[in-house]
Amino acid sequence: MEKELQRLKEEAEKELEQICEAQHLEPFRVKYLGRKGGLLSGAMKQLRTVSKEDRPRLGALANSIKQEIESLFEAKKETLSLPVASARSLDTSLPGRTLPEGKLHPVTQVMEEICSIFEGLGFAVAEGPDVETDYYNFEALNIPPHHPARDMHDTFYVTDSILLRTHTSPMQARIMENQDPPLRYIAPGKVYRCDSDITHTPMFHQVEGFLVDRDVSFADLKGVLTSFTHNMFGKELDLRFRPSFFPFTEPSAEVDIACVICEGKGCRVCKRTGWLEILGSGLIDPEVMKMVGYDPDVYSGFAFGLGVERIAMLKYGIDDIRMYYENDLRFLSQF
Ligand SMILES: [Zn+2]
Repeated sequence: MEKELQRLKEEAEKELEQICEAQHLEPFRVKYLGRKGGLLSGAMKQLRTVSKEDRPRLGALANSIKQEIESLFEAKKETLSLPVASARSLDTSLPGRTLPEGKLHPVTQVMEEICSIFEGLGFAVAEGPDVETDYYNFEALNIPPHHPARDMHDTFYVTDSILLRTHTSPMQARIMENQDPPLRYIAPGKVYRCDSDITHTPMFHQVEGFLVDRDVSFADLKGVLTSFTHNMFGKELDLRFRPSFFPFTEPSAEVDIACVICEGKGCRVCKRTGWLEILGSGLIDPEVMKMVGYDPDVYSGFAFGLGVERIAMLKYGIDDIRMYYENDLRFLSQF
C-alpha cells in the first residue's frame, strides 16, 4: 500500500511536469484528484482494507501526498494562466540594455588635445604644484612685491608667502632653474583667481609654453602658434599679434585668431570685429633669464599662455564658462 502511494505520487508529478498547455490541466485533475474515480480517491478508499494498526500512518501519508499534488497542480495552473502576450513578447534577438558610458570632461578633452599638438611640435609636458610660493609665482617672473601687475591677478593667498598659483608660468622658472637650454616645454594645469562671471571662474585651466635656445625670434613664436591654431581649429585661420605688456616677456603680444564662427566677416561671438583673442605671448624678458643664471646675450626664448576653457568655448561655441562647472550631465554628455 505504501509503495503504491509513492508510485502514484511520482507518476502524478511526472505527468504534471510535462503539461504545457492549459487544456490538459482538467483531464489531469480528473484522473488524479477527481472525487469519483480519481486515482488518489481510490487509494483513500482502499485504506478501509488495511489493518487497524497501519491505518493512521497510511492515512496521513495519503493525505499529505494528496495535498502536495493539489498544490503542485495549483502552481501549474497559475503559470499557464499568465497572459500569452507577456510570455511570447520575450524577443531574445533584441540587443541588451547598454550601461551609460562615462566620458572625459570637455575641458580635459581640449587640454589633452592641446598637449598632443604641442608634443607633436617637440614640446615636453611638465606639471607643477597648484600651491605655489610667492617667489615662483611672481618674483622669479619679474614681478617684485608692490609691482602693479600683481593687482591683475586677484590672488588667493594661503600665507604671506604661499598662494594658489595664478598662472602655470611658475613652471617656466622652476624648469629653467634646473636645466640648461635648449628647452621646449609646455606646462598644463589648474590655476586660481578670485574672480567669477560669465567668462571667469575662480579655478580654470591654463597651458603655459616656452622655448629657450640660441637665436630664437618672434618669427619662431609666430610659426609655432600658427601651426598650433591650424591644428586646434582644423582651419587655416589668420593670426594677428597686438602689442601688449607682461612683466616676464619683452616685447609682449596678445594673439588673436580670425573668428572661428564667421572667419573674419564679423558676428556676435567676435563682437563684429572678425577677431578673437586666444592667448598672451612674448619673448622671455632678459631679466627672467638672468634670474635663473642664463646669459641673455647668448640665449633667447619665447613664452605663451593660453586659457583652456577659452579655447574649448571657441571650439564648441559655448558662451558661458560656468556651464563647465555646473555638472549638468545633459551639457557634459554632448562632448
Ligand atoms: Zn565672428
